[in-house]
Amino acid sequence: MKPLQILVIGGVAAGASFAARARRLDESAHITVIERGPDVSFANCGLPYHIGGEIPNRDVLAVQTPATLKSLLNLDVRTRCEAISIDRVGKRVLVRNLQNEQSEWLSYDKLMLAPGAAPVVPPLPGIEDPRIFTLRNLVDMDRIAAASEVGMRAVVVGGGFIGLEMAEQLHHKGLSVQLVQSNPHVLVQLDSKMAILLEDELVHNGIKLYLGDQITHFEGKDTVLHCHLASGGTLDADFVVMSIGVRPETSLGRDADLQLGERGHFVVNDFMQTSDPDIYAAGDAVETVDLVDGGKMAAALGGPANRQGRVAADHIFMGKRARPYPGSLGTAIVRVFDMAAGCTGWTEERLKQSGRSYGTVTVNDYQHASYYPGARPLTLKILWDEKSGTLLGAQAAGYDGVDKRLDVLATAITARMNVEDLCHLELAYAPPFGSAKDIVNLAGFAATNQRDGLVSCVYELPTDADVQIIDVRAKAIAGASPVPGAINIPMPMLRDNLDKLDRNRPIVTICALGKTSYFAARVLVQHGFDVKSLVGGMKMNFSSRNPSKI
Ligand code: FAD
Repeated sequence: MKPLQILVIGGVAAGASFAARARRLDESAHITVIERGPDVSFANCGLPYHIGGEIPNRDVLAVQTPATLKSLLNLDVRTRCEAISIDRVGKRVLVRNLQNEQSEWLSYDKLMLAPGAAPVVPPLPGIEDPRIFTLRNLVDMDRIAAASEVGMRAVVVGGGFIGLEMAEQLHHKGLSVQLVQSNPHVLVQLDSKMAILLEDELVHNGIKLYLGDQITHFEGKDTVLHCHLASGGTLDADFVVMSIGVRPETSLGRDADLQLGERGHFVVNDFMQTSDPDIYAAGDAVETVDLVDGGKMAAALGGPANRQGRVAADHIFMGKRARPYPGSLGTAIVRVFDMAAGCTGWTEERLKQSGRSYGTVTVNDYQHASYYPGARPLTLKILWDEKSGTLLGAQAAGYDGVDKRLDVLATAITARMNVEDLCHLELAYAPPFGSAKDIVNLAGFAATNQRDGLVSCVYELPTDADVQIIDVRAKAIAGASPVPGAINIPMPMLRDNLDKLDRNRPIVTICALGKTSYFAARVLVQHGFDVKSLVGGMKMNFSSRNPSKI
């Protein structure tokens, strides 16, 4: 049989993963990879860490070269070549060599489109200044690294994952960093109270935050780049990193009349086939199934890109034995200085927008036994379907063990577990690693308590003057950070002071972390009071970054 001609457009995450799997499944196929840039199969997720000096050796980021891919996998990799047109009828692609400007048609039996997504560059006045960068590949990385060798003042625009990593790494390198974010909080993938924990860490480390603000225009002078803010101020920078999001690079497919989704991504089936069954697509350029609700979602993440590439290759070479791509959750994590934070599934904000009824709880604990040296705070928020209790999303923030909890919860959501299942997840425990009741179990307990009607919760401190706010923290602590309008009755004294409370008025209990207030609520409810507990306690409701709430 004639060997299959496989043509791959884009040679990094999805494209390289596809090509490698294709070769492992078929030794005889002719596999050609077309890549516009000078590098293939490089580690884009590591780029910020080379700029900051944490990954000192640039070479480790260039995971493969055309030569190694030839010798290891017998791939014909053509860098600095751009696919510019698809002739679906003739099953060929016009490819231009960017070095000599020569073009040629390359035929395919099966075509893989893995062109990724390009950084969004808004059409602002002054945006063409050469000191304004985006970060997608090694060439961008080298430019930013060079600028950060001479410059001392950086403005990072965008507080998403890449923006935060860049802010951290530039600061790590000794630069003064200002971060502008148009949303009211960093990381829109988190709900605001969880994101505030990260913002505290950024501010604590000297990053200046401009939240809910945006750049209106840039004004380049000889030795400085003025970044003008909508709020009226001006930030002076030696250079700027724009990281305000990405847009799928699907124009090649659009021009060939492949079906695109609402936001311009390729529409693919479970086996990554586009509307043309001989053309597959994978990675940042596609939309897939949202594992939470079965709708559409586009996850611009390394894991999905790599796995989707593999699915497409399996479908071509294994036929009916290939397994479908199940969909994505958008599980993601970022480290900011000593902290890490991340998410999986839907946020509360998203659930509110969708109109879906949900329950939620936030629990504070430690990454391992509190008595074992090095215990550090860990915060976990979970969201579930109000009716069935099925998990819909989770967010975690802390100093250690964030990744482990997110991975457990991503697995739980994928397995369609409900909050009751979390109570009895048997997780690895010895004091240096976890607790006999892990924070994931605690989140399950807290959610189940709500669902069983053992406790009613509030998520904001009430403003209604009729409500009695009972602060059950120790006297010294409550005295040092008083809650306006609250009566302080430390938990150990609560049972002896019930006569001080008005039985005709509702009560909200509050503590430091949201656990003792639950204990207090249980005492009070059993004595006939109408009581609710404040979820997350002082920690989640009275942040230094949210002083208006105090
Ligand atoms: P890409 O990896 O971007 O590859 C697409 C390639 O196609 C590009 O090299 C492009 O030059 C080429 N191309 C496009 N059009 C053409 C054409 N017409 N002809 C020829 N070639 C073309 N994800 C995570 O999950 N975790 C992380 O920590 C993380 N960190 C990141 C940090 C940075 C700085 C960046 C930029 C991304 C990060 N990501 C991370 C996202 C992750 O890298 C992407 O989701 C993933 O690389 C997408 O893979 P892809 O193959 O779709 O696109």
